[in-house]
Amino acid sequence: MVVVQTRVCQICDKRLAKYVCQGCGRIICEVCLEPQTWVCSDCYSHLKEESGGFWVFQSSLFRLLLLSFLLIFIGVVFMVISVLMGTPVSAGVVVILGPLPIILGVGSYATLALVLAVVLTISSIVMFFLFQRGRK
Ligand SMILES: [Zn+2]
Ligand SMILES: [Zn+2]
Repeated sequence: MVVVQTRVCQICDKRLAKYVCQGCGRIICEVCLEPQTWVCSDCYSHLKEESGGFWVFQSSLFRLLLLSFLLIFIGVVFMVISVLMGTPVSAGVVVILGPLPIILGVGSYATLALVLAVVLTISSIVMFFLFQRGRK
């Protein structure tokens, strides 16, 4: 009876296994090991997929933040124009950054414009969360 003491990598089935994957527990060789994560190339590809999804979520948040700043900018531009021209142009901008709502309004119809801005802000937030839920 021959006792095989050398163990073969369970990923490539060719090289001698020296390591154990921290993800699935399979024995793997140094080629199939991902040194940064200490998992096999199989588990590593799964990890990469997960982190890829995480980055999509991150960029969505970033886009929302960018949109908020764009709204502030548009609102400020409208206000400056209306003040400079002296026209009864009303503008209202509501931007919610975390728990802090930033409300800007100008003109004789500022209250109406603000209400519209609040509605638009809330609806955009609701749409954002619906979009996020739809992705999962
Ligand atoms: Zn291998
Ligand atoms: Zn693994």
